[in-house]
Amino acid sequence: MSRSECAALRIRWAPRLLMTGRSFRLPVQTAGPEPVLQFAPFTLVDRRFSPRDDAFMYYLRAPQTSGDYTLSAECGEQSDARVVQVRTLDELRQCQRYNGAEWPRRWPLGRNWDSTKTAQTLQDTPLRPVNIETLRWWLEQDDTTLWHQLPEAEAPRAHYVNVHQGCPACGTAIFAHHGYYPWVRSLLPADFRSECPNCHAVFPSNDLHSGDFSSGDYGDDGFGYFDRDGHLFLFAASYRRDLVNLYNSPIDHLTSLLRTEFDPLLARRLGIMLLRYASEILNLAAIPQFRHGPSQEVETAWDWGQPDWSSDPEPIASLFRKGMLRYAIDVPSIGASLALAYDTIWPWLKEDRELVARAQALGLALAQPADAIRLIEEMLASLLQCLLDGGGLSNMPRVSEGALTLIRGLDRADAQDALEWLYDRGPEKLRGFGTNDFFPCGTPPEATGGYNDTHTRGLFALEYQLRQLRQRHPQAYPESLFPSLLDPSRGQRIIQAPAEIALLGRIPFHFGDGGSSGVQTPLHDRAPLDPLPAATKALAAEYLDADPLAESARQKPLGNTVLDGVGIAILRTDERPERAAAGIVYGDAPYHRHQDLLDVQLYAYDRPFISDLGYPQSWASVHCWEGHWATHNSVWSVAPDLHPLELPFDTPQPFLKAIAGRGRLVRMLSSAGLQVAEIEAERWAWHPAEQRWYKPGIHFRRLIALVETDGQGLAL
Ligand SMILES: [Zn+2]
Ligand SMILES: [Zn+2]
Repeated sequence: MSRSECAALRIRWAPRLLMTGRSFRLPVQTAGPEPVLQFAPFTLVDRRFSPRDDAFMYYLRAPQTSGDYTLSAECGEQSDARVVQVRTLDELRQCQRYNGAEWPRRWPLGRNWDSTKTAQTLQDTPLRPVNIETLRWWLEQDDTTLWHQLPEAEAPRAHYVNVHQGCPACGTAIFAHHGYYPWVRSLLPADFRSECPNCHAVFPSNDLHSGDFSSGDYGDDGFGYFDRDGHLFLFAASYRRDLVNLYNSPIDHLTSLLRTEFDPLLARRLGIMLLRYASEILNLAAIPQFRHGPSQEVETAWDWGQPDWSSDPEPIASLFRKGMLRYAIDVPSIGASLALAYDTIWPWLKEDRELVARAQALGLALAQPADAIRLIEEMLASLLQCLLDGGGLSNMPRVSEGALTLIRGLDRADAQDALEWLYDRGPEKLRGFGTNDFFPCGTPPEATGGYNDTHTRGLFALEYQLRQLRQRHPQAYPESLFPSLLDPSRGQRIIQAPAEIALLGRIPFHFGDGGSSGVQTPLHDRAPLDPLPAATKALAAEYLDADPLAESARQKPLGNTVLDGVGIAILRTDERPERAAAGIVYGDAPYHRHQDLLDVQLYAYDRPFISDLGYPQSWASVHCWEGHWATHNSVWSVAPDLHPLELPFDTPQPFLKAIAGRGRLVRMLSSAGLQVAEIEAERWAWHPAEQRWYKPGIHFRRLIALVETDGQGLAL
């Protein structure tokens, strides 16, 4: 077929719904010459032909007037057309039904927003230190610059440029600088340039900042640069992700400054930033197509444009883990940070007319301070709904922490439906969280160290949030409906366990995907391991009606540790802290695990001798490196018919796909200078057809002994 025949002309992607003034890429695929495009009243910003896609790409900006507009492409007999519904921000905020669901996704669904806040409610939050240096640039900018520093949601965002091939110029040499984020960028102000720290090449070749989507040999129009072999490099998308992430730091710092000493000039600056963030979140509440999207571990191309999840057969289920402006995992903490910022300036925001005038100048349709309040509260309610829709799934129990902070910040006495969800249907299922999320030994179900400590800290933080909410609205959230999360005896185990896995008093025993200790680094420069923050210990002391970390207990040698729920045994010499410790893994956990059954670690002479690689250097290589049994000090077996798991996660955790196992402690022997642990274990495998675990009949047995020899000598 020759180009002149205008064959198979198709508009491959267009947004169904778009905010006024926003831009997007319209791909028109054709085997023929360039079609005639009818795009009025949109503005054409740039255009190019993409040989890789056989498509003409048009970069269009929507008009400021709402309407249903038809975009059409025509060439000879061939034509195609799409209707784009352009709506103002105010129109997007109106409740409507589409595809069987309520839109926008803003709690409470299907109702216009009505503020019920009558007091500041989050000022008990501990004050964070302010770094005035990180604020300086933000304090020097005018409103327009502050406004535009947050990128518009319509252009895609991604984590990584490329975790396989590295740099288009020097390849994988760039990974010596960092496995995930090696690229050097100047974000203040945004220039959309990424420099390789190894070869100093700068990408992309086009200048996105000035609306140039097409120049040069290394062009990236927002959806990535493809090299000759079809490898994808997401310069622009990961740059935008950096810009989005950066925007929250000055919000936090301004909040802390204002809580220390109130200053209307600073408050107005924070107000502008909150209104900017709100306009983007409300856009995404109505048009989820431009949410961050699945949390891709490797660079992944879009299918012409972002999928319209709101048009899927199960639109709300499709929002699962798609995040908002940021990726899913960040949504709860961003919600909490924005709620605190709002709560901090709320008394002043209710009155300030100058902020309204300045927001009007930036294009927001506000008439009075109450309109600013409403816009910001609707943002917080949309972030809450994102959590309730599963769109903000995060490390446990952050969804509940974020949701409770949002409900408290909004000062709602009518969020029983949200609490019922948190208690019985959400990811943490709070009604059983204190029991089900911890092994009987008190250990949470993830990697040791930071991941597990997030559960432990979270349990006490949640209890605090619940008590504060109940105190503020006792009739609305009685303990009879929403009981305490803490069982005193279990609570004491939970608060003690993190300290019991300390090795040489400096580092946690490694299970799974926690931080790595390196291999030959002395430990004495590290601070003594203090896994739980003072705030958690203070809450534990208050709620558990006892001091589980009594000073007398802290002075005694730890001795041997058996955490038989998760399956960790640690042998120690008898000093405090011990001069040598050896541990073995014989259990398993559902998240951030490695193939670490029967993994043995040894720490002595102030350093790790046998340790674990911990957090992966790259998701591209974790399958055959950090997560793999061969990098563990383990035993293994190759069994026919055992296949890696294929679980339906949008973030495939290599660790979850692995083959599992479970052991039991056969015996511990302890005498002067000799500590012994004997373990037996059995392989578990997943039956994909029957969706259940089974035991293929592979048994292991391992005995480790920590022996003190002459002088300070040791043998394992
Ligand atoms: Zn390079
Ligand atoms: Zn490991």
